Amino acid sequence: MSENPDLKPATLLAHGGRRSEDNGGDVAPRIHPSTNYARDENYRLINPAGSYSRDANPSYLPVEKLLARLEGGAEALLLASGMAAAAAVVQALRPGDHIVAQKVMYWGVRDWLIAFCADWGLGLDLADAADPAALAGAVKPGRTKLIWIETPCNPTWEVVDIAKAAEVTHKAGARLVVDSTVATPVHTRPIEHGADIVMHSATKSLNGHGDAVAGVLVAARADEFWARVRGNRALGGAVLGPFETWLLHRGLRTLHLRVERASANALTIARHFDGHAKLEAVLYPGLESHPGHAIAKNQMQGGFGAMMSFRVKGGAAAALKVAGRCQVFIRATSLGGTESLIEHRASVEGPSSPVPPDLLRLSIGIEDAGDLIADLELALAGV
Ligand SMILES: *Cc1c(COP(=O)(O)O)cnc(C)c1O
Repeated sequence: MSENPDLKPATLLAHGGRRSEDNGGDVAPRIHPSTNYARDENYRLINPAGSYSRDANPSYLPVEKLLARLEGGAEALLLASGMAAAAAVVQALRPGDHIVAQKVMYWGVRDWLIAFCADWGLGLDLADAADPAALAGAVKPGRTKLIWIETPCNPTWEVVDIAKAAEVTHKAGARLVVDSTVATPVHTRPIEHGADIVMHSATKSLNGHGDAVAGVLVAARADEFWARVRGNRALGGAVLGPFETWLLHRGLRTLHLRVERASANALTIARHFDGHAKLEAVLYPGLESHPGHAIAKNQMQGGFGAMMSFRVKGGAAAALKVAGRCQVFIRATSLGGTESLIEHRASVEGPSSPVPPDLLRLSIGIEDAGDLIADLELALAGV
């Protein structure tokens, strides 16, 4: 069924992008724990994945094929985490190369980039990616090899115009990497807008159940740079285990439903709390008041994602009190799971964090929207 080019993402995902005929009739995916694969009497490999599980586990193949197809890319790679995916790309650069990255983005990637680039002789400039002129201004002609953006980005959910960023990137002769963890391929296909590589923390919505750490890269083209990235997985060794691969495959089968529901819940919640007496602001790209709304409407289909932030009147103390009073929302980090989460990012990121102290990050799950609204109303009533 997956050979039919007209099938829609919901159908591909529900089937896990695979045919049971190709899997000895199994309707559900298999796990392949074997580390090594035998050769036939003519010394030919029997298993199409290769000879050794660090190069590629057979469990990877249908998942990578599915993700490449969903993103409209040539090839996909599964890695041990989102951070391993980011590292595999950056480590394909050479000393002296220069990166332009987004000023406001997932702090783990930003802080790692700052430390890694300084230690390993790579140039790095941070720019406001929502402003294409600022992005272009940060380019070092001849040296800039990578532009790294995240959209919508943590924790303000600003939206970057991927097509405009791609124009700046390609004019500089560089590659555009888009961290699309929050959008998922259900809402945005960055390659269609000009991205060269799409990155996901599959720990989040792609797996969606908070029980596996995983990363994904999808390449628009399988070129020489991509071969270096692929080599970084095999020889750098940040491979995903077969069981995590199986969990990710299992999670992907409900991705479309989960993302649709979580995004619909998020829009309902954002609209309900927009202008609330206890809040300074609700940050959500689905709200017309959000600075990235016009681009989001153009770039995202079927919803605006499950992530939003509240800025609570009364600063850090009030924000922490609201989080503390929640009973349905779980006070925990991460995002994209079935359960709604609430997090005071400034507490988690520490004193160097640029996140305002009154900000609460909400990852909206697939619960009943009314229960979530009632929980937040009750929490806000107490401050
Ligand atoms: C979580 C996250 C990452 C890091 O991924 P891990 O799977 O935790 O290594 C990168 N980017 C974004 C947007 C994330 O949310």
